[in-house]
Amino acid sequence: MIINKVLSPVGDEQRAYEFLNNSGSNLGVLIQKLNAAQQYVQDKNALGSKYPVDLFCYEDTLADIVMPQKGRDTDDVFKELADIFDGSFRPQSPNFLFNMIPNPLQDTIIAAMLMQLNSNNCIMDSYDGKSILYEQKVARSLGSLVGWKNAFGVCCNGGKVTLFYALKSAINRIAPQAAQKGIPNDLVVLISSGAHYSIEHTCSMVGLGSDKCIRIPIDSREGITKLKLQAAFNEQIKKGKKVAAIICCGGTTIDFLCENTRHIYDAVVETTKRHKLGYFPYLHIDSVIGWLWFTFLGMDFEQIYEFAGNREIALKIFNVTNKLGGVKNFDSFGADMHKNGLCPYSSSFFIAKDQGAITGQGAKLLSGKKNYGDARAFNYTIENSRPSGGIASAWTALQRMGIEGFRQYLVELMRSTEIIKHALRKQAGIRILNEQSYGWEIVFSIKFQLLEEKMQTSDDKCIAESFIQYLWSKIDKGEDLPNFSIIKNYRKDFGPLEEHAFILYNMQIGVNDSAASQIADQVTGLAAVFQQEVINGFQSLVYTELKAPIR
Ligand SMILES: *Cc1c(COP(=O)(O)O)cnc(C)c1O
Repeated sequence: MIINKVLSPVGDEQRAYEFLNNSGSNLGVLIQKLNAAQQYVQDKNALGSKYPVDLFCYEDTLADIVMPQKGRDTDDVFKELADIFDGSFRPQSPNFLFNMIPNPLQDTIIAAMLMQLNSNNCIMDSYDGKSILYEQKVARSLGSLVGWKNAFGVCCNGGKVTLFYALKSAINRIAPQAAQKGIPNDLVVLISSGAHYSIEHTCSMVGLGSDKCIRIPIDSREGITKLKLQAAFNEQIKKGKKVAAIICCGGTTIDFLCENTRHIYDAVVETTKRHKLGYFPYLHIDSVIGWLWFTFLGMDFEQIYEFAGNREIALKIFNVTNKLGGVKNFDSFGADMHKNGLCPYSSSFFIAKDQGAITGQGAKLLSGKKNYGDARAFNYTIENSRPSGGIASAWTALQRMGIEGFRQYLVELMRSTEIIKHALRKQAGIRILNEQSYGWEIVFSIKFQLLEEKMQTSDDKCIAESFIQYLWSKIDKGEDLPNFSIIKNYRKDFGPLEEHAFILYNMQIGVNDSAASQIADQVTGLAAVFQQEVINGFQSLVYTELKAPIR
């Protein structure tokens, strides 16, 4: 009896059937298996910011893969599955300084697992119970931070999908027939040139076409100015186009680029009035990172200062909340709880002021006092079957942290950054390039003096790219070193293209002076060893261009 032998840990046939039919309830066995599977991952003895990986070629590796004829033992399968982590980040490492990947709160992991454990499908309430209700509870909670009483939301796989929902809602609003007739040809969307790289692809996915995505130039991290927005808007009107949406930045990973939402709103009001447009563009803010600052909305500087206990941090937070003060006049925003909401993947939310635009015609979830049994998410979501883990973890994070907990989390992230910056400043040859950033990323340069002197090279960009690849190849081999990244042609104050810079993105809170010094010492130590190895001929400079890592 194969089922008996392979799929169940119990002896006789009848008990095997019972076990399988009820596998989620066998918690003891489940936890045992989870433990054993995780042990295989831990057996890799990865101590650093990455599980070591040997380079592999996809095509070669896949060449002989077929479905196994016979089932295999649990142990056998999980031993092999641990392989899946080779080359993957370990954000729990203090040396993980690469990007905004969270260390989730334990309870949010449990919440997500709970939904998996019970195979909950967030498709319609008669299937999923209250997961749509909880999705809307999260939406109302996050929406209430910006002053929306009737917020409506969709949990989705990432910030990119929140942009998708924003574009879809914008099209629904300006061209209600688009769902049946297709998207009119005269629609364009205006976007800050600092916005996420995924927006063009999202425009193509939604059916607009990436050429309809007009990027507005910016000249500082304060984002699009009123004048530049109006100029771009006027230009499109002159061309006979309709501006379906304006998508603003609400904080990015580099420089925390954030537009002034009040200025944007005023500019749009003026332009639509002046031209008697008869429509109002859909306003979305990509606050997948910036949502965390919403928790401070409504506080004046003194109150923020009192809470943060640090003048500089309070000033930065206040400046951001000042710019975000106009979000209540927008139509929607995004929040990535898997970035800075202490949740595991995936836990993004698209939050709209109300359900008007997203649900389109006739698909309203909440109108007319709908009751249990009436909710059908598939009328407005891109997927039909949907996991509910993101909903459960987001709700759990909101309950466990509260507004004050999230405020504290933000302050602590900023405080840790200040401590690391302080340690870096003490190192010879390191220059911090983004002292003024509102975020907690650290952008810095390293002076490779030895190389410049001995090798008489002035190709700073080549040296920087070679150094980062040198570091990453060590990390790929499993060495426990600070894992940071590179920004090609970092624009200092958005002036002319400047220099390659390095970026260090800390996600640990409570970093102290000695931990920070250790990071700083290692960074300069590595730069020194790298230079020595190049000079001695053990290491060569790489002249092929490095593909910039995603941001
Ligand atoms: C990360 C990010 C996105 C994309 O989010 P995913 O979760 O990776 O899909 C979009 N916009 C901004 C500002 C981001 O930081």
